[in-house]
Amino acid sequence: MMSLALASSTTSIEKVLHQAGRRVTPQRMLILETIRESGGHLDADEIHRLARQKAPHLSLSTVYRTINVLKEVEVIEKLHLGDGRPHYEIKKGEHHHLICRGCGKVIEFQSPFSDKWGRGWGEKYDFEITRAHLDLRGYCAECRQEMSG
Ligand SMILES: [Zn+2]
Ligand SMILES: [Zn+2]
Repeated sequence: MMSLALASSTTSIEKVLHQAGRRVTPQRMLILETIRESGGHLDADEIHRLARQKAPHLSLSTVYRTINVLKEVEVIEKLHLGDGRPHYEIKKGEHHHLICRGCGKVIEFQSPFSDKWGRGWGEKYDFEITRAHLDLRGYCAECRQEMSG
């Protein structure tokens, strides 16, 4: 997917928007920057709250519309982290998530183990795996400490 590599810098994102026939608007750049600066994994309300620090008049419906455009051109990706609300992150290379059921924190990790692991299942079912994404749920160190204390 071409946009994977392109999504890493602002000028490339402008290029992606242009190629998709979309205009580069200040809102689109602002929302993209907001997601990027936060490290990703935000829901629409969180994006709205953070983006309004720079653009106080930004409405939630503009945030939703902008998210849809960015998703369509594949600059951001929708995630399901288990709390029922869609979250978004900048589309990038394959990585996996450790998701805390206590505080909602998301820790990203990359591991070639998905290749090995995936290959085994692929061989077993004669299936060619083109993408792997693991969401592992549990409790982070802080939440475990809180629960035990
Ligand atoms: Zn936690
Ligand atoms: Zn992620």
